[in-house]
Amino acid sequence: MSTVAETVERLVNEAGFDYVGACTTEGFRTRPEVRDMCAANLCQHYDKSWSCPPACGEIEEYEQRMRAFDNCMVVQTVGQMEDAFDFETVKEAAEIQDKRFRELVKHLYEEDFEFMPLGAGTCMLCPECSYPDSPCRFPDKMVVSMEAAGLVVNEICTKANVEYNHGENTISFSGCILY
Ligand code: SF4
Repeated sequence: MSTVAETVERLVNEAGFDYVGACTTEGFRTRPEVRDMCAANLCQHYDKSWSCPPACGEIEEYEQRMRAFDNCMVVQTVGQMEDAFDFETVKEAAEIQDKRFRELVKHLYEEDFEFMPLGAGTCMLCPECSYPDSPCRFPDKMVVSMEAAGLVVNEICTKANVEYNHGENTISFSGCILY
C-alpha cells in the first residue's frame, strides 16, 4: 500500500506539470505584505472574486490551516513567450496550469487523506465569477492562490528547489499541495 507521500508524488507526476519540487512546511509563514501587494491590484483581481482578497478570508486563518500539514509539493507550468508582450502565451500558460491543477486536485479528493491545495492566481472555474452579487457557485472546487493565502511564491519555490523565474521571456505559474 502506498504512503501519502507516494500517492501525492504519483498524482503530481501524472498531472504533467513542467516542474515539480518537494519540501517540508517548516518555516512557512504567511505575510501581510503579500496581501498589500494583492490590494495594489496589479493583477486586476483584487475584490473581483470569491477566491481573492478581501473575500477569501484572513491570512491568519490560512496560517492556522497550514499548520496541520508537514509537507509541500510545488507544481509549475512555464510558458515560453515570443517577446515581453506575448500576452497570448501568458494566458495560455495560466490556463494550462489551472487545468493541470484542477485535475490533480480532483484526483487527490478521491484519496483518503487531508490536503490543502493552493493555486496560481484567481479562480478561473467560471467564465465570470459570481462575486459579489451571489455566493460562489462551486465553493468546494474553488481554489485560493498561494499569494491570497499570504505565501511568498518565490520563497516556497526556492525551498522546494523549483526555479521561480526561468529566464528572459518566460512566464511561470506555480501552485502547491500541502499534505
Ligand atoms: S468557482 Fe466560480 S464563483 Fe466561485 S470563486 Fe471560482 S469563479 Fe468565482
